[in-house]
Amino acid sequence: MKRSSNHTTTNRLNRTHRHSYLLSGLLECAHCAGSYAIMSKDRYGCTNGQKDLRIAHLDDGVCANSKTISRSELETRVLDAIPARLLSVGSTTSLQDEINKQLTATTKTGERDQEKLKSHLSEVSRK
Ligand SMILES: [Zn+2]
Repeated sequence: MKRSSNHTTTNRLNRTHRHSYLLSGLLECAHCAGSYAIMSKDRYGCTNGQKDLRIAHLDDGVCANSKTISRSELETRVLDAIPARLLSVGSTTSLQDEINKQLTATTKTGERDQEKLKSHLSEVSRK
């Protein structure tokens, strides 16, 4: 009888292991658009390049992007790029509130612009 050595178990393990870092699964190679992942010594690099994968949109060539970056440096750079205002928000709930507030404000501005356009259009039509 077979048990626990099936694919489901293996895949589930792989999945949980795959997204263990802050930026796991979020990075893309600027050259071939392949995924940037931890390769060795805690450094991110292009996985397509590492596997010598032939890329169709690179005329079946191999990705030439051999740049790697250490995980800690990359995480620092990304966190530095996020406005401090967002990071100072205490919890994810209030972060979501903040995003919703911004979205509502943007939508309202859009509606106002639309109203302005409409009145302008009817004004032009009258003339
Ligand atoms: Zn690449």
